[in-house]
Amino acid sequence: MGNRVQEHKRKSLREWIIYIFGFYKNPPYIEDRLKEADVRSSIYLTVTVIGMEIWMLIRYVKKYVITGKCATVGVFLKYTYGYWILLGSAILLLIYSSLYMLGKLKVLKRFSRPIIFIYFCIGIYFGINTSLVDFSKGKMIICFLSMSMYMTFIFVVRPYISLILTLIAGYGFIYIIDRYAYDKAGNKVSLESGDLINYTTFFITLTVLYITIYYQRYSDAQKAYQLQLAALRDDTTGAPNIIGMEQISDEYTEKLKSEGKTPIYIAFDIKNFKTYNDRYDYDNGDKLLKEMAGIVTRNFPGEPYARHSADKFIVLTSKEGSPEKADKVREDLMKAHSKEKYLDVSAGSYIPVKEEDGPRRAMDYAQYAIYLRKHKEGFFISEFDEKCKKTYETRNYVLNNLDTAIREGYIKAFYQPVIDSSSGKVCGCEALARWIDPERGMISPGQFIPVLEESRQIHKLDKCIYEDVLRRLREAMDANLPVLPVSLNFSRLDFELMDAVEELEEKIEKYNIPKDYVHVEITESALTESEEILHKAVEEFHKRGYVVWLDDFGSGYSSMNVLKDFRFDLLKIDMVFLKGFAGNNNSKSIIKNIIDLANTLNMETLTEGVESEDAVEFLKEAGCKRMQGYYYGKPQPYEELLEKIKDGTYKLLDEIVNK
Ligand code: C2E
Ligand code: MG
Ligand code: MG
Repeated sequence: MGNRVQEHKRKSLREWIIYIFGFYKNPPYIEDRLKEADVRSSIYLTVTVIGMEIWMLIRYVKKYVITGKCATVGVFLKYTYGYWILLGSAILLLIYSSLYMLGKLKVLKRFSRPIIFIYFCIGIYFGINTSLVDFSKGKMIICFLSMSMYMTFIFVVRPYISLILTLIAGYGFIYIIDRYAYDKAGNKVSLESGDLINYTTFFITLTVLYITIYYQRYSDAQKAYQLQLAALRDDTTGAPNIIGMEQISDEYTEKLKSEGKTPIYIAFDIKNFKTYNDRYDYDNGDKLLKEMAGIVTRNFPGEPYARHSADKFIVLTSKEGSPEKADKVREDLMKAHSKEKYLDVSAGSYIPVKEEDGPRRAMDYAQYAIYLRKHKEGFFISEFDEKCKKTYETRNYVLNNLDTAIREGYIKAFYQPVIDSSSGKVCGCEALARWIDPERGMISPGQFIPVLEESRQIHKLDKCIYEDVLRRLREAMDANLPVLPVSLNFSRLDFELMDAVEELEEKIEKYNIPKDYVHVEITESALTESEEILHKAVEEFHKRGYVVWLDDFGSGYSSMNVLKDFRFDLLKIDMVFLKGFAGNNNSKSIIKNIIDLANTLNMETLTEGVESEDAVEFLKEAGCKRMQGYYYGKPQPYEELLEKIKDGTYKLLDEIVNK
């Protein structure tokens, strides 16, 4: 192997011979560099040869064609065909070598050696031919010598090959002279012994020169290879890094496919690694990562793998049998740290379909598959399937196009009517964001809101909705059209990412909208975190004269705590309670009790997700003040709402009409 050459003590004669003659197999990287060096030399050489052959042809034309000594094209070609062949093959090799160096070759790249060798043979043949003629005239064999030198320069393969080539070329030529060199008179001419010694010396020198060139190139390639190897490893664990894995994953994918197996990338993520790090310091954290690298490679022996980043690893393997191996990875790590109950491993997978589906993309996809199923219990490999792909693409689309969508007005508010239970009339509406994309059509909030929250950009959307709603209210007021109070949704992150109160206040002032036309909706789940900020915000809204509603009450885990700690004007009962309510007496009792509780706490009530007449009847009876749901209408553009008010489908509450 190539590395053997690096050792200082060469133990046996056999190894010494292997080294001297180059009977070892080089790693592909080194072999590629050596081939590249040959191709590079080919460029210099062919340019020289092309120049020389053109010069020779011009010389011939001047000497024989112009003077009329060469009468026909046939004669011209007969005497110059050697130049043409050499010129043509040099041009072809120059084109090939240039494309090779520019990285434009794919399949043909593999054949650099045979191609250069063909050229080598043509050159040597030309050298022999010309020199044989010259020699018969009593001249030296310079053409052959220079051709041998040229040609071997571009074919520096291994010492033993150089040796064979120079031996064959040198002694083959001497043999040819001995047999075929006759002068014009037909007398046999042969080499003088002094010349023979000179030529032998020349070929020995040539051989030594080639071997020296080879080892020079070899050692450069070795150095570059070592640097590459170091750059392809991760310092902490010694495992390959993702770039290192990329170098071999294509080839391995092909290998698996050729064996009839399905290649699959499996990504591992150590859960709560941060806790371990905080508990046992970074050095021990590093040790754990090293251990994990060992576990991965032990369970997937000989397969490409990498530490991707932090506590994330990836391996390329065959789908067949992979779940068991992945299971074993998790088991091994947890067994080794059985005291650390919080440690766990999650796994995601991706089957590459396109050529560019390398480990980096696979990692992204597998991570996403893990993320999508993060709330599911138990260990399994979350597969990045077609369904994941769709949401993944939408997510990327949302992230990449949010700013454009806001700027171009693709995001606007739709309005869902809220009904006053006792009169059955419309008493307000809720503004719900809709993204109507020219390319993708309607994108629902369920698709973009979680993405915007996760990427901490939700405030951009909300600002845009507040602006849209308040502008619309102003337009309605100015045009003397019905104006409905609108409730606006606030995300928990709005309070972290901007001064939400101030933002609303500014826009209210900008469009000069009375504050009682706006209700602030804060979802229950928002209130479980960042309490301090939210407390202040709710207080501030109240202080400035806004009503604050608690959205989705009952959907989270801390509903009662929220009621205890915050003051709200209205309780929006989550639609989960109405799901399957018809046959479920428990649901009915719960809703009834929530309404009673709200009354006791001086809060109004609104139930969401009202879809049937039964639900309407029940809620009225239970004392719920307001209702919202598909039974009364879906979220719709403001114009549609106005249209329905105009044609009498919706009747407005008297207070609103008289405002
Ligand atoms: P939400 O604030 O609880 O809004 C009610 C959701 O329930 C709306 O979904 C509405 O279309 C839907 N809905 C209303 N009546 C019915 C019904 O009878 N049956 C069923 N199955 N669904 C009904 P939408 O518009 O898809 O919004 C989903 C959530 O996205 C909203 O829940 C809210 O949390 C969030 N959201 C929507 N627009 C905004 C916004 O502008 N800003 C923020 N921060 N969040 C928003
Ligand atoms: Mg809402
Ligand atoms: Mg809601």
